[in-house]
Amino acid sequence: MLFYSRGLAVFLIALSLFGLSFSGAAQADPIPSELVLTGKLSGKDHQTYVKAPFEVPEGVERITIEFSYTGKDQRTVVDLGLYDPNGLRGWSGGNKTSFTVARNDASPSYLPGPILPGTWHLLLGIPNIRKNVEATYTARVTFTGGAAVPITGFLKAPIDAKPNWYRGDFHSHTGHSDGNCNSLSGKRIPCPAFRTLEAARLANLNFISVTEHNTVSHHSVLRELQAYYDTLLIIPGREITTFFGHMNAIGPMAPLEFQLGSNQLPIVDDLSKEVKRQGGIISINHPGMPSGEDCMGCGFVAPNVDYSLFDAVEIANGGTMHLVKSAEGIFSHIPKWESLLNDGFRLTGIGGSDSHDPDASLDRQLPVGQPTTVVYARELSQSGILDGVRSGRVFIDVTGSSRAMVDMVAKGPRTIANMGSVMALRPRESASVMIDVRNSMEGRVELVLGRDAPSITLSDSRLDGRDRQRTFIAPFAAKPYWARVNVRDTSGRLILISNPIYFKPDVR
Ligand SMILES: [Zn+2]
Ligand SMILES: [Zn+2]
Repeated sequence: MLFYSRGLAVFLIALSLFGLSFSGAAQADPIPSELVLTGKLSGKDHQTYVKAPFEVPEGVERITIEFSYTGKDQRTVVDLGLYDPNGLRGWSGGNKTSFTVARNDASPSYLPGPILPGTWHLLLGIPNIRKNVEATYTARVTFTGGAAVPITGFLKAPIDAKPNWYRGDFHSHTGHSDGNCNSLSGKRIPCPAFRTLEAARLANLNFISVTEHNTVSHHSVLRELQAYYDTLLIIPGREITTFFGHMNAIGPMAPLEFQLGSNQLPIVDDLSKEVKRQGGIISINHPGMPSGEDCMGCGFVAPNVDYSLFDAVEIANGGTMHLVKSAEGIFSHIPKWESLLNDGFRLTGIGGSDSHDPDASLDRQLPVGQPTTVVYARELSQSGILDGVRSGRVFIDVTGSSRAMVDMVAKGPRTIANMGSVMALRPRESASVMIDVRNSMEGRVELVLGRDAPSITLSDSRLDGRDRQRTFIAPFAAKPYWARVNVRDTSGRLILISNPIYFKPDVR
């Protein structure tokens, strides 16, 4: 007999059952989010195994357990394992106080696999409890699943709790898909994931998303590595790779459909909705690549797609940049992005190296972190970075300089709009937009305007290598428009790409 409740609003009901006591609270949702098991142990439990059963309802996708007990000062020891209705799911002994299991990933010591509804139990092994000693254990069991799955990722707490600009790479592959590198003896092998993470660390990135083609086999490995790479946020990702285009699903961990046959095309929208249910973001990858026999599935040619369901477009892809030695020109992804912006979709421009080899020398491909995407986030956590992309206060450091930055803010008569946000203007009103370029080199700022923008010019476009602010006036216009900037070096090479500020008429 167990009682459930949502969240932390637990009123604990203790009852005795075979010498154990359980507490929980009352059912309020088809998938209760949390359950607390407590129990007492005494000298008679010395060198025995004690079961702590709990019911897993239908629809649960992930179970996370946090375990604690008293009496360590009296040499009480409680080891821990988990059984699902079919048998042993793992044993961590005295090594872990929290762990998670899901269909596709699990903490070290535990096995991924279906989350079957029914009776599961924690198995408590008690190698030592003294004769006249009592101890209490508490297991907090958190269920995830249902209509909306909260963002989980591999870490509970942010790596850095401060709002800041955070630098990362949204696109990389390891040996879990088609990433290769040399073994110690020089053989080409599917590259272990830690090599890509090490490359990200050496590139001074704050975060990296490992985006394997369609599979989810990397998640357990990344979970294990995240504990070691605790200064580098690892975001689970997948490159949903179809015959009609590639899309990065960043954040989700449960399965995603990728078999988009020609008679199933509306499924692109279903995919976008499923990514959102799982708390993730979805981006269109390298849309400027060719399609057909030149490059099968590379360009984005899926018809009848609801672009408002996307969050981002990969406007700088390391693979393409290596091919054409630029983020511009043939195969550039920027024109496709800007045409979607002109059609009124507010999609954040992001970038990714698309690294397939962490050792790559520049003659073969660009390294991890080229390009770098720089996200203004409330904290360095998975939800912080994904919310930052959703907000659009993001720019791309094309060369992965580790330090150059560009930001924009519009000051209107009533409100302020950051990069990625909307400024509403009434007739005859205007906003003053400040462009802030830092740690950059000599060159110039270039204003890029959407199709329906009025004529606007910059106060001064020159950059002399020092931190500079440049301004322009954005006036009211009858149609919505957007404005953003590029930063170029003295040879005209694209160095930084900003996201737009959007201007819309506020006509009452
Ligand atoms: Zn791709
Ligand atoms: Zn890729």
